[in-house]
Amino acid sequence: MARRALVTGITGQDGAYLSQFLLEKGYEVHGVIRRSSHRGVEDHRLRWLGVADRVQLHDADLADVSSLLRTVNDVQPDEIYNLAAQSFVASSWRQPILTANVTAVGVTNVLEAMRIGAPGARFYQASSSEMYGLIQESMQSEKTPFYPRSPYAVAKLYGHWITVNYRESFGLHASSGILFNHESPLRGVEFVTRKVTRTVAAIKLGQASELRLGNIDAKRDWGHARDYVRAMWLMLQQDKPDDYVVATGVTTTVRDMCKIAFAHAGLEMDRHLIIDPAFFRPAEVDVLLGDSTKARAALGWTPEIDLETMIKEMVDADLERLRRDPLS
Ligand code: NDP
Ligand code: GDP
Repeated sequence: MARRALVTGITGQDGAYLSQFLLEKGYEVHGVIRRSSHRGVEDHRLRWLGVADRVQLHDADLADVSSLLRTVNDVQPDEIYNLAAQSFVASSWRQPILTANVTAVGVTNVLEAMRIGAPGARFYQASSSEMYGLIQESMQSEKTPFYPRSPYAVAKLYGHWITVNYRESFGLHASSGILFNHESPLRGVEFVTRKVTRTVAAIKLGQASELRLGNIDAKRDWGHARDYVRAMWLMLQQDKPDDYVVATGVTTTVRDMCKIAFAHAGLEMDRHLIIDPAFFRPAEVDVLLGDSTKARAALGWTPEIDLETMIKEMVDADLERLRRDPLS
């Protein structure tokens, strides 16, 4: 019988790539979808990857434990991937309580649903390199102390530790993946890579003239979502649950990432880039650089797509989308 996976956040970037990956492995894929007045567009990422008709969606919300319990009871999953979150750092200062309710307590809601409804399932928590924040070591590993710098990161820290705690308290097979930034043509448009590639594509097509950014000296360890969902799955195939850093081990400034996008489109960055204080954050994470030695050794995981290849793929995808529909 096919193994059954339940994915919260299935309509997001990682949910779409993970669904495609699991379907290719022969899984029956179920996902949590929250109620929206825009029925029909929320599965656009699943449609982009051609898998929307092959996943089964269930109405539930991370803030509503009874809806999660009902879903877990109905699906009886072998594996649960908790990817749902208010995931945008900048929004977390404007909506700190919502971020706590969904990104922090929401994790306990999913764990409770699993503990009561499917205690034998395996659980993956989408933890984040943002938890390192004001970095305490130049390369961050599973042993590096955390120092969160945003309500988002504080919420993720709770999600991480409640996952560890449920593993230790109840013996659940619960793992936490501390994933560094990962992007793709399906990245949300407010995140910096996608904002850059989409705006560069719009400038190229004469639909925009400028790109407004905040702190372009910030450095991130950027990988590709397609590589990172493979690491999630590998974690749940291990006999023992554990925590793993997933990263490329290369860090790049926002400025240099931008240069790749402008050069690929044949545009001069200096003619279009404007620094706008509106995009500076109340507290910044200046640099992230991950040490994924453990994941590479224990899971046999390595990233296959480098930053330059990914940014070019993203610019090309945005050119294609904007040519079809300037409002996309
Ligand atoms: P996205 O923002 O693309 O997706 C978030 C998903 O969560 C969407 O499906 C969204 O639904 C869903 N969601 C939000 N609120 C709720 C709610 N109250 N109830 C149910 N579902 C909800 O994120 P990514 O795919 O990029 O990331 C996946 C996870 O990994 C997130 O938890 C993120 O914080 C974490 N992460 C991501 C990193 C990255 O670089 N991408 C790095 C480290 C961690 P809807 O479509 O309706 O908005
Ligand atoms: P994050 O690492 O999860 O916060 O991912 P983002 O892609 O949102 O931001 C990455 C880095 O880019 C952060 O240090 C931001 O401050 C920086 N940055 C600079 N300008 C912008 C901008 O206009 N939008 C976003 N989202 N980030 C920006």
